Amino acid sequence: MVKMSDTISQDMPVIGRFAPSPTGPMHFGTLIAALGSYLLARQAGGTWRVRIEDLDPPRVVPGAADEMLFLLEALGLTWDGPVVYQGQRFGRYREVLDLLRSKNLLFDCNCSRREVLASAPHTGEDGPVYPGTCRAGMKGQRAEAAVRLRIVNRTVSFVDGIFGTRMQNLETELGDFVLHRADGEFAYQLAVVVDDMDAGITQVVRGADLLASTPRQIYLYDCLEALVPHYYHLPLALSASGGKLSKRDGPALIVTRDNGVQLMWQVLCFLGQNPPDELRRSRPRDLLEWALAYFSCGAIPAENRCFSPKP
Ligand code: GLU
Repeated sequence: MVKMSDTISQDMPVIGRFAPSPTGPMHFGTLIAALGSYLLARQAGGTWRVRIEDLDPPRVVPGAADEMLFLLEALGLTWDGPVVYQGQRFGRYREVLDLLRSKNLLFDCNCSRREVLASAPHTGEDGPVYPGTCRAGMKGQRAEAAVRLRIVNRTVSFVDGIFGTRMQNLETELGDFVLHRADGEFAYQLAVVVDDMDAGITQVVRGADLLASTPRQIYLYDCLEALVPHYYHLPLALSASGGKLSKRDGPALIVTRDNGVQLMWQVLCFLGQNPPDELRRSRPRDLLEWALAYFSCGAIPAENRCFSPKP
């Protein structure tokens, strides 16, 4: 069944957000999401919120969240309302899991990775497709169980503001997916939907690495009878080797107070804009003023590309 989910009306005031994971210093890729989400929200006269996605304690780097917030402020990317920390919302995620369970949408699964791999009919975009092994009771060998969301013949379709129409059959391309991991952590897919829903987010602007997660998130909105936000996935900056650009690609791509304006200028170029040369060395406020006036969503290329700084 292909279903268009109920999306938030275009006339609603825009509430955007930036949701970095504090797993290291802020780098060029993070700045693309920060600046892109800020500009699209502010150009629409909307609100822009910040959420720190410290969901996975072992990956959190102490001090990284504070450093990111400090840099956002130094670069003039000021947010509205309090910063939300996922680490403080576990009780709420538990509550939503209970709600989904009461609707008979969840089941426990103790299949190991190896068992899922062995039983998968094929490998989808996001790994081996889970064939519903434990739907009628656990069959795996492990003591710890994950919690999965049941998916029955469901194709999700949505229109991304940059990448256009996307479609995915969740059952055949993915399978019942995990909302609570066997190691006790809540899954990103659950947390992001609950957080965006609770914050009234109407516009999700983020990196295109999350395009593949969006159908799952839309399905969750449907399960929770909530309206789906509008999505804009920004092209990924790739390294010369073709992988997602990261802090490992060199110190010049790590954002600091000193190189912040330069890098924001490069982000604008990467996103298909034409900022005047003299703004490379301006104050953040001047560059943002230009960007708010001239940033064009239509000029953003819908393809991930190798990043080479404009000389
Ligand atoms: N925390 C994710 C990241 O830093 C972004 C999640 C999202 O925007 O939905 O890549």
